[in-house]
Amino acid sequence: MNAAEILHTLTDQGFNMAVEGDRLTITPSSRLTDTLRAEIRTHKFALVELLTRPANDEPTPPPPATASRAEVEQWMDLVGETDPETRREVLANYGYPSFTYPDSGRRACRQCRNLEVDGGCRAARRGQIPNASKHYTWPAGIDALHRCIGFRPGLDDHDPTTTEKRP
Ligand code: SF4
Repeated sequence: MNAAEILHTLTDQGFNMAVEGDRLTITPSSRLTDTLRAEIRTHKFALVELLTRPANDEPTPPPPATASRAEVEQWMDLVGETDPETRREVLANYGYPSFTYPDSGRRACRQCRNLEVDGGCRAARRGQIPNASKHYTWPAGIDALHRCIGFRPGLDDHDPTTTEKRP
């Protein structure tokens, strides 16, 4: 889910949301599922942006030039930019060039939608990678190519199949 979808889900399910500074409060918190909690943690920056957007619906300004790749991707999610070519161009403007995808089907954490802004792995935090700690990413580094059970192709991946389905 992107931030807009999370917001829609929360509203549909009758949650109340409030922002104070950079603190996001969702009530009643006891009704939040683990999945929703994980999604909210991942998209907190974008959710706060959405909830504090001026009433005249000014477009959300782009992140600063020093933004991480994940922050730029979150902003594109927020403004609804889903065209892979445009996303590649925007990333290139921030100095994040397209990756060269090898035929081996291996990918790097940096290409995975589970890589969070803080450099952690969302799949590991959800317990979807056996024996991985909550702060896990691929031990050889986020740019190392490998096969990972939790890999979710990023929007700029020309091959949307997951690791399990790759030859
Ligand atoms: S799911 Fe696997 S490939 Fe994706 S960020 Fe986590 S460790 Fe890396």
